[in-house]
Order: sequence, then C-alpha cells, then structure tokens
Amino acid sequence: MQRATLGALLGLALAAQAAMHAPVHAATLASGTTAPAPAPAPVRAEIEVQIDPGTRELSGHGTWVVSAGRPWRVSLDERFDVQQFLVDGDPGPTATAPAEGLRAWRLPAAGRERHIEIAWRGRLEALDATLDHRAVLTHTQPVSAPRGSFLPSAARWHPVFDGVGLAYRIAIDLPEDQRAIVPGTPAGERTGGGRRMQTYAFEQPESAIDLMAGPYRVTQRSFVAADGRKIALRALLHPEIADRGEGDLDAVERYLRLYEKWIGPYPYEAFSVVSSPTPTGFGMPTLTYMGVEVLRLPFIRDTSLGHEVLHNWWGNGVRPDYARGNWSEGLTTFMADYAYREQAGSEAAREMRLAWLRDFAALGSGADRPLAAFTSRTHGAEQVVGYHKAAMVFLMLHDAIGAQAFDRALRAFWLEHRGGVASWDDLRTAFEAASKRDLAPYFAQWLDRAGAPSLRLASATAVRDSARWRVDVELTQSAPAYRLRVPLALRFERGTEETRWVDFDGERARLTLVADRRPEAITLDPQARVFRRLAPGEAPPILRQSMLDPATVTVLVGAEATGESLARRLTEHPLRLHPMTAAAPTQPLLLVGVASEVERYLARHDLPSRPAELNADAGTATAWAWTTERRGGAPLTVVAARDEAALAALARPLPHYGRQSWLVFVGPTAIARGTWPSRPQQIAFGGG
Ligand SMILES: [Zn+2]
Repeated sequence: MQRATLGALLGLALAAQAAMHAPVHAATLASGTTAPAPAPAPVRAEIEVQIDPGTRELSGHGTWVVSAGRPWRVSLDERFDVQQFLVDGDPGPTATAPAEGLRAWRLPAAGRERHIEIAWRGRLEALDATLDHRAVLTHTQPVSAPRGSFLPSAARWHPVFDGVGLAYRIAIDLPEDQRAIVPGTPAGERTGGGRRMQTYAFEQPESAIDLMAGPYRVTQRSFVAADGRKIALRALLHPEIADRGEGDLDAVERYLRLYEKWIGPYPYEAFSVVSSPTPTGFGMPTLTYMGVEVLRLPFIRDTSLGHEVLHNWWGNGVRPDYARGNWSEGLTTFMADYAYREQAGSEAAREMRLAWLRDFAALGSGADRPLAAFTSRTHGAEQVVGYHKAAMVFLMLHDAIGAQAFDRALRAFWLEHRGGVASWDDLRTAFEAASKRDLAPYFAQWLDRAGAPSLRLASATAVRDSARWRVDVELTQSAPAYRLRVPLALRFERGTEETRWVDFDGERARLTLVADRRPEAITLDPQARVFRRLAPGEAPPILRQSMLDPATVTVLVGAEATGESLARRLTEHPLRLHPMTAAAPTQPLLLVGVASEVERYLARHDLPSRPAELNADAGTATAWAWTTERRGGAPLTVVAARDEAALAALARPLPHYGRQSWLVFVGPTAIARGTWPSRPQQIAFGGG
C-alpha cells in the first residue's frame, strides 16, 4: 500500500506551474539520541522473482518464516497460478475459491515457528501509459512493459500474510537493460547471461512489497547521516531524463539535511528518486516514484521532492494509525510545501494560506468531513481537508505555542514513535508535554467537527481616551462557537500595522484594544492565519467551486457531446444536467458551450457577461473560462470556446486550473489567467 502520495501538488499544479521556492527552515539540531530498534517482524521472507517485461511473465519463489501462536491467512491475486505451497516441507492447505480477485489459504495456529514455501507464476497487465494521475492513484493492478513495470503492494503480486508487517530480502531477476527497485537497502547486484539480478533487504516491516522496474540509468552517491551512517542516494531515471540525476540528488541532500536538523536522523539506509512512465507521484519508504513528465516540471524538485523525502519521517518512519485518522499528510504539507513558501517570504506564505481557505470555501458548506475521518486522498475534496485544513491546524498550533515548543514536541514525538504507529492523540500528547498546556479542546474542535467557523468583524469604533486611543470591536462567529485566537490588525498612518491576537470563544464578543496613536482601520485576520470559512468578499469565486460543489447544475449550449465530456472531466460529482431551454437554475451554475451561444444564453437570462479581464488577445484566443458571482451569491462558471475543436482542446488543461478565477486559452495553452482580488474584512475609522 502506498502510505503517501504526492497528489497534493499534482492535481493542482501540473499545469499551473506557479513559482515555487527552495526550502530552508529555521531549525535547531536534534539531540543525538537514537530510537529503539523496531520489534522483530512476525513474518520474514526470502523471495526471488523473475520478470520479463517483454512478455509480462512473472515467476516467483520464496520462503516465509511465520511466528508461532496465531492463525494465518495468505492471499494472492488470482491471476497467478501456485505451483507449490509447502508448510515445513509438507503440502499446505488448498486455496479457497477466488473471491474479489484473490485466492486465499488458511493456516491454523501452531505452537512453533513455521516455514512456508510458495512458488507462483502468472502474467502481469500491460502498461497503460495514458492513465491520468487520478486513475493511477486508484489503480491496483500489477503492470509491466519494457518502458516500465509497477507492481504495487496493494496488487498482491506476491503471497501476502494478512494483517502483519513483513521484513524481507528479495532478489529480482530482469533482462540486463532493466533495473528494479523496492523499498529497502540495496544488498548486491550481478549480471550474466543477458540478465541482471538485484537484491534488496528491508528490516522495517512493510505490509507487502512495492516493486518498480524500467530501463533506468543510475546516478548514485553516498550521504553521511546526522548520526554518522552512510546513506545510499540514487536516481533511477529513464534515459531521456537521466541527466537530471545529479541535480535531483543535490536537492535530496538538501532536504535530508533540513529534516535531520528539524526532526532527527534519517531513519533508513537509502533513498532513491525513481521515474515512472505514467504521470504518477508516490512516496514509499526509501524512495519516491514520479512520472517522467512530472519530474520535468520545474517546481517538482523544489517542492514535491522535499514533501516525499519528509514522508520518510512522517507517514513511513512513523505511520499514522489509519483507523483513527491520518495526520501525516497535514504535518508533511506544513513542514514541506508550506515551509518552503515561508522561506520564500511572508507574501508567498500568505498566498498559500489564502489559496487553501479559498479552496475550502469552494467546497460549499456541508461538503466536507471531519479531519479525523481523513485517511488518504482519492479526490480533491479530501485534499482540501486532509492536507490543507490539517496543515492549518498545525500552523495555528505553531502560532499558539511558539516555534520552540512546537519543534521540541515534534522531536520528542519522533523519538518515541519512530518505527511504529501513532495517532492524532499521540501527537496531541507530545504537543501538550512540550507546551505544558491542555490541548484537548483544540484538537477536538479541529479534528472531530466538520466545517469551519465563519468569523465576522461586526463593528468597530475608535475613540480618543486622554493620551491614547480606544478601539471597541465586535466579533461574531457561527454557532456552535470555536475557541479561537484571532489576529486583528490595526493600521496607522503611513501604512504601519500592528497585529493584536485576541481570544474569542463565544458567538459574539465585544473587545477593547488600546493604541497609543490614532488608528485608521482595523482588519480581521488579514494574513489568513485562522482556518475559517471566508466571507464572500474574502473568497472570490474560483473555477474549483463548480468542480467540487455537488449542488452545481450544468447547462450545455452548443457542441453538447464535447461540452458534456468536458464537464465530466471538470467535476468530481455526478453531473446534474439542466436543459438550456428551461429557465436558468438558481443553484451554482456551470455553463459550457460554444461562445456565441453562451453569450446568447447569458443575455437571455440576464446573467453577468464575460468580464473585461478576459478580452485580452481577443483576436487569437480560442476559449475562455471564468467564475463570477451572480446577484444573490450563487457562483456562475462559464466555459466558452469558439468552436467544438477549441472546446475539446480544454479537456486536458482546464481541470488543473481550479485555483484560477478566469483563463484565456489558445488551443490547449492558457495565455492569460488570474484570480479576483480578495477583500479582507476591514472597518475604516472616520477622520478626526
Ligand atoms: Zn504526501
């Protein structure tokens, strides 16, 4: 199973390619203490597999040593035939009839350790390089081709002893021009007779093995970890991108140093960057597996690679207790993607926070689930909560307890749980110990409740009070109230600003701030540091609203078949089609079609026409997309193209631009785009 995916960035950024920035984060050196070794795995395996990507044949043979005192269930994908199944040298049980694509064997508990020997063979699926990222995320077939093989652990391509960790040593035999990799430490390689045999060992138990192979060129070097161990760094890349290897490893080294200082020594003996023929991005212990085209994107080395390196601490080094929610994506997003933005400057960091809050606003109320229910990302709505809301929960905690206590808690959490499983409760305990505060209410409100508070700056007045100025502020929030720390910014003449943090835990509060100069205005949370549902003006409409909000109704006007398939690609919910001849729906509206008909529809229903921002390059532009607010507030998203071909050309690029408010296209290329400005909640004080 993939413990972590880098989907975080891909869905949004494949085409967006915003400027990204190199990381460095203030950090202090972690203490040199080493964590206890993980408990021995209940299953140990020695496996040999032979794979021929040309014919897609796989044959395997292995011995599993299983501990005494418990029954076992062994399962394997039904595509494989089992030639041998021996228990301590005697014939083992017969397989159950295949169910849900699996064959299974049951072994009753025994009083001593047993040796299970299994030989199996079968044919892998053909590689389908046309899968998009969303499809790859959910694809669990083992695939093979000379261009690349990917045998995910979830595909049960080798016998899996259910429900326990597996420590393994595996030898992989391939044609000589291919190389393979699995999580673990390289433990030997030899070639002969046109074949290459590579061995890996992994002692930190995995549920099953992820195997990747391809026509890789290898770049390698060694890195000395903070505790003196030698770490093998490798890039296994397709020939056309092999020249990136050194640069990628330079970046990996930078990230390893950053996180070793911030958290503690790197927990494994190796790390590799591995390329994939499909546009994927997976993180596994000791490696990241990313599409050739993904690796080429300029921001990947500066952000996603760091995110994946960090998953070796959060997600793999310490695994989330999935039954009780996945904290690892939020913490990784906070310490990677977000930390790099902070390093680039306060404005870049604010932009990221604001984008997260806009995305959340785009979900529509009631469309999200509690953070505690998040386990892994399968679609964009999950990402908004599991990655971004969670990252904001860490950010608000960081603001509340300070960087020193925050980092101390992380290091203590790492030392205690390294090599094991930990829950949100374990994190809370670590933060409570480091900050000496009761954080139960904080974690409860952010983990167990869906949604977010709606905060309003209801009124504010400033009056002179002898030598000082008194600012009386009224705040409100939606019920039931959250316990919040809210930043209020006072602006003075010449644009200077002061931020005052206030505690706010009721539905309404009157507060008094004192200033020694005359304030000109007060603004609620102008830096977007509180996770909340933005007010309409604070959350200008973005395309993503129609992608995520299941209440959205779609109207097709001209080139209906092409328009419908584009609308299906854009939205993550079932389409609700509405006839173009009927009255315009009052719900959020997605209007897709040929520009001339779109204009007629908008005019006929008295809907806002194309904003002026989209009129640039009117002569060459072939398509336009924009989201605006209708009178009454429901968003209107329009996708209009000169003709059917221009509409069809949007199918690939447009879904990646959810964060934009408007775009202009020539064919599949966005030549202009933008987001409507965000207007913070502000009250200006009259002169005098
Ligand atoms: Zn991740």
